[in-house]
Formats: sequence, structure tokens, C-alpha cells
Amino acid sequence: MLEGQYDILFEPLKIGPVTAPNRFVMMPYANGHSYLMPNGAIGIRETRAEGGWGIIGMQLSEIDPTSDLSGLPYERLWDHGDVKVHAQSVERIHTHGALASIELAHTGIRSRGTENGYPVMGPSSLPTLKPDMPYNAKAMDKSDIKRLRASFRAAIGRAKQAGYDMAYVYASHDASILWHFLSPAYNHRTDEYGGSFENRLRLLREVLEEAQDEAAGEMAVALRFAVHEASGPKRITFDGEGRDVVEALAELPDLWDINISGWSADSQTARYARQGYQEEFTSFVKQVTSKPVLGVGRFTSPDTMVSQIKRGVLDMIGSARASIADPFLPNKIREGRIEDIRECIGCNVCVSVELSGVQVRCTQNPTMSEEWRRGWHPEKVPAASNPETALIVGGGPAGLEAALTLARAGHEVTVAEKADEMGGRSIREATIKGLASWARVRDYRLYQLQQMGNVNLYAGSELDADGIAEFEADHLILATGSRWLDDGRGRSNLAPIAGFKGAALTPDDILDGTEVTGPVVIYDDDHYYMANALAVDLAEKGHEVHIVTPLPTLAGWMGNTLEHPKMLGELMVAGVKMYPNTTATGWNGGALDVTRSDTGESLPIINAATLIAVTNRIPEISLSEALTAKGIAHRTIGDAEVPGTIQAAVYSGHRHARELLGTEPEDRIFKRERPTLLL
Ligand code: ADP
Ligand code: SF4
Repeated sequence: MLEGQYDILFEPLKIGPVTAPNRFVMMPYANGHSYLMPNGAIGIRETRAEGGWGIIGMQLSEIDPTSDLSGLPYERLWDHGDVKVHAQSVERIHTHGALASIELAHTGIRSRGTENGYPVMGPSSLPTLKPDMPYNAKAMDKSDIKRLRASFRAAIGRAKQAGYDMAYVYASHDASILWHFLSPAYNHRTDEYGGSFENRLRLLREVLEEAQDEAAGEMAVALRFAVHEASGPKRITFDGEGRDVVEALAELPDLWDINISGWSADSQTARYARQGYQEEFTSFVKQVTSKPVLGVGRFTSPDTMVSQIKRGVLDMIGSARASIADPFLPNKIREGRIEDIRECIGCNVCVSVELSGVQVRCTQNPTMSEEWRRGWHPEKVPAASNPETALIVGGGPAGLEAALTLARAGHEVTVAEKADEMGGRSIREATIKGLASWARVRDYRLYQLQQMGNVNLYAGSELDADGIAEFEADHLILATGSRWLDDGRGRSNLAPIAGFKGAALTPDDILDGTEVTGPVVIYDDDHYYMANALAVDLAEKGHEVHIVTPLPTLAGWMGNTLEHPKMLGELMVAGVKMYPNTTATGWNGGALDVTRSDTGESLPIINAATLIAVTNRIPEISLSEALTAKGIAHRTIGDAEVPGTIQAAVYSGHRHARELLGTEPEDRIFKRERPTLLL
């Protein structure tokens, strides 16, 4: 690292009446903790403030009950009663020298209105933005508009009262009433709030002006605005009305926080977008306004961050995922510890969990959401009272994470891995097209372990029960992983399928280098990335590929990682033939027999030379059974305990290590947020 190479990232920046201590912004991302879980949410934010982020964003906060994201875990700043908890959050953030911001929002036709019972509000009479839900929005009349403006102003006042340094006027992600008024796709009004560009912009301009008026120079006002829509009818684009908005409001906000819309375009995965993918759409903004500009783009590399600032693309680097994966990223850069950064792999497991209404999980950072309730710090592990020896068999994500956690506590740790390289599935799967960043799960942990004097790493070392017994470790952990089934048993079909066993290849075979010949049929009863990633990989290697799934759509879970449409498009472009709603009933060595999943009606056979079954995995427990037979105590972790995602394996490794250290509650009950009963 060159002297002063990253200094620019640590230059303070004036934003209206406040000054950010550096250029790192933890974005107001959805963290799965609603207003009902303030302690956990404060734990997330305070940990990032401690880790050096200059501005810490409070996630989307509804300004009043007509913005009703029923059932989704968001924040509220409806009235004075909500101020206290926000003030506490701000105070905890300020303790570490960071500024606190809040994203104030009314979600317009993105709302559902089922929880609070008020009509969903829109610029026009429209279906809500979930066409599969039977709700409509009311075309706001003049009194509704007046009330909305007053509501925004009052929320700004409450944000000031809570001590926030900056409040956002939110107009992004297709999820703001201000955006809905701006959009010609949604705004069909004929009054002064509809029709011409100036009319459609009117509400956003009014709210922004009133926000500044209410902030009265005591709090900065930021505008979060999507300068470009990636898809949709009558799109607002960076070379059209997106730019016009920035020109029209150029000096009105104290900070421009810009991105592209909708959420799936804004939060793209590593499989489909490189770091800094928003630049082509957002780089014009700094040429139009003299106000500071903040942007995102899954930034994890400090060199890229510096380049963005030096080239005049952005003034501030916004991060959601990078701050989830490594809450201490800014401090590590400041201290020149670049190799210690736990780099986001761009998998969107965080998003998928949040969309399920659950507190965010992260593949790279098992302590995410555990800061308060389990007291897990992302960088520190309590010291073991008595340093002992631990043998870990298997150097995949679970084994490496357990090793790192125990080594940090001071134990003497040995990892034995039968393959020639450490990393398990994180490096095996990284060889598939689009999944290269999976290797970062190994890279971070292996590098950390290599720096420690109390760690012995043995790749190319297969251990059996006798070898393990000879080792006489105080603690024994098996992290031997799982293997894919070849007999057709999957997630929707629990029985073997005729002709599969011994004939179907599995992802393990493909990753072991088994050659694939001729046309390929992939049977996907796993429903996540493996089948479709292999399909594209094989198609691009020149194979004719058919992908068959018993469910109505391919890999439905990928809707939650925001990758579903892109994945289907990628299969289409690669020429992969897709067969949803199709159940395999047998394989005869040259063709797959199939029926319709819903009616059971026979469908034409699918001819192929190779069958790949991507169905389900079972734990690799033969070693565990042999040890049990010998009476040798051990823990089984990761995929060897329960096959799941890489995130689950890393988490398992971390949790088991902490349990072994004796710092976890015996009864497994961690701190909880309890609703208060008012008698
Ligand atoms: P997880 O996701 O739970 O970490 P992986 O499948 O990624 O699981 O990793 C398990 C690792 O354990 C693999 O790299 C595998 O080679 C290794 N392994 C399995 N059995 C043995 C054994 N008997 N001795 C050493 N390593 C083993
Ligand atoms: Fe990054 Fe994946 Fe963690 Fe999300 S879950 S922050 S995408 S590593």
C-alpha cells in the first residue's frame, strides 16, 4: 500500500449544516428489524459506527400510517411517541463520532394498506405495485396532497427532535409516492400535479422545499433519487427525465444520494454485475450540481472507492452489503489492513432473508443481527479461559469459520482437509460461471488463519477415525460437508426416481471433473442457483441443455435474491430449453420420461445423452458414525450437520465454536425483544 493512498476516503465533507467525518456511508438498508426490534437494530447501527462508517443510515421509516408496508419489517416515525427510540439510536451512533441519518418515506402505491386500514395513496387510481395482490390505490385529491405535505414536514420536525444530523426525502426504488407522482407511467392526473414534467415534479419539489424550511439549517436534507429506471413502461432515464430532475432541483438538497431503480437493478449480485455497475447511469450528476453526491455499486475495493472520488463520479461511497459483510471496513482501510477486509461475495442472501421478513443474515459475516441479542462482535471473540487443542476435520466454510473463531479465542487449532486446497464448496462452486466470488469465503478465512501462530493447516490430509483418535485433541469438530444425491430424491419429490441411481451425474461429479457428453438434461428439484448456473456453464461450453423442474417456475427462491428475471434471461440467451411444471418419472439412459406436475398427464420424452440430478444433499456422516462407534466425542457442524446454504455453514461454524468456548447460553435462549403489555 502506498503512503496516503486512501487518505481521500478519510477527508471530512461538509453537507449543508453538518460535516461528515469521512466518505463512508452505511446506507439506509432494510435490515429485517422492524420498529418492533429496536435493540437489535441499534446493535447493527452502533457496530458499524464503531467500525468507522462516517454516516449511519436508519432504514426506510414511514412518516405516517397511510404508508403501510403491511407485514414488512420497516421503521416508523409516525408521531412523538416514536421519537424516543430514534433518539436512543442516534445517541449510540454519536458515541462513536458518526453522523446519523434517517430515510423518511411514504411508499405510495408500493403500500398495501391491509394493516392500518387506510386506502393506499397514489397519484391516480391504479392497482398497487404488487399486481398479484388484490389491492388498489386511491387517486389522491387536493386535501390528501395537503395532508401528505404536512405529514412530511412534521416527520422532518420529529427527525430533528430525535437528534438526526440528516433526513432524507426518499424518491427511489419505485417505492415512494414522490416518485409515483413524477413517473408518467403512474401519474395520469390532469391538474397541476400531472401532465407536464414540471407538474409531475411539483410534489417532490414542494416536499423538498418544505423539508429544508423545517430543517431550518439545523439538520441536513438529502434527496435519495433514482436517476435511471432499468425497466418498465415510460421509463425515467439518466439521459431523459432523470437528468431533468437533477437539473431542476440541483441546489435544493444538501446531498444527492443517487442510484438506479428498482431494487433488483440497484442491488445486483456478483453473478450479474461487476463492482461499480451504476457508474454509467449516475456519473453525470456531479456535473450538474455543486452539492455532494453519494452513490452505491457493491463497492468493496478501496482502490475502486478512491477512483470513484478522484474521477469525480462520487463524493461519498455508500454501502449496504459491504457494511453488512464487514462492519469494520473503513477502520481496516484507515489502518492499512486491506487484507483483513471480509469482502462481500455479492450473493444477496442478506436480501433474501430480509424479504422473508427475518433479521438479515450474511454469508460472510455470521455476527450480522447477533450484535445485541447474542452479543457477538464481528471482530472479537472472548478469550478462552484455558487454551486447549482443537482438531477440525474439513476445511470448507464451516470448518474454516470454526477454526478462525477458536483460534481467535486462543486455542491451538489444527485443520485437516482431504482436498489439496482448503475451501470446500466455496472454491469448488466458484469454478462455475458467475460464482467466482464464492471463493472469498475461503480467501478471507484462510488468510486470517495463515497469519496466526496457533494454527496448523494441513491440506491433502484425509483423516479416518483411527487417525483422529491418535491426535488426542481436547476438542474434535467434524466439518465434512455433504454430497448430492443421484437417485432423484429432491425437495418436492421425496422418493427415488426409476433409472436415476448410478446413472445420473450430480454437481459433485461435475465439480470433480467428470466429462459431460452430448445433449444434457438437468433435473432441478433443488430450486436455487446450482442447476441454472450449471446449465449456463454447460451451454456456453457448447452443450445442448434442457432444464426440467417439477415446480411451476425455475428456482423460485431466486426471486428473493432479486436474480430471478436475470437468471431466466441468461438461460434464454444461452439457448437452454426450460421445462417448468414438469416431473421426471424415469431415465432410460437416453431420455427422460416426464409428466405435468399438476395433472400428471404424460409429456413428450426429453432426449439427452447425460442426466444431471440437482435435487438434494445428504450430510457426509460416515466418519461421525465411525467415531461414535469408538466412543470418541465430537461435534458435527455445517453441511455435515444440516446441508444448506454457504451462509448457514459459516454461521454453524461460528455458533458451534462459540458454544465450545462456553460463552453461549446453555438453554440456547438468547436475549429477546419483548412487547410490553399495557395494563
Ligand atoms: P461446509 O459447507 O459444511 O463447510 P464443505 O462441503 O464445503 O462443507 O466442506 C467439507 C470439506 O470437508 C470438504 O472440503 C471435504 O474435502 C472435507 N472432508 C470430508 N471428509 C474429510 C476427511 N475424512 N478428512 C479431511 N477432510 C474431509
Ligand atoms: Fe454480501 Fe452475500 Fe453478505 Fe449480502 S449476504 S452482504 S451479498 S456476502
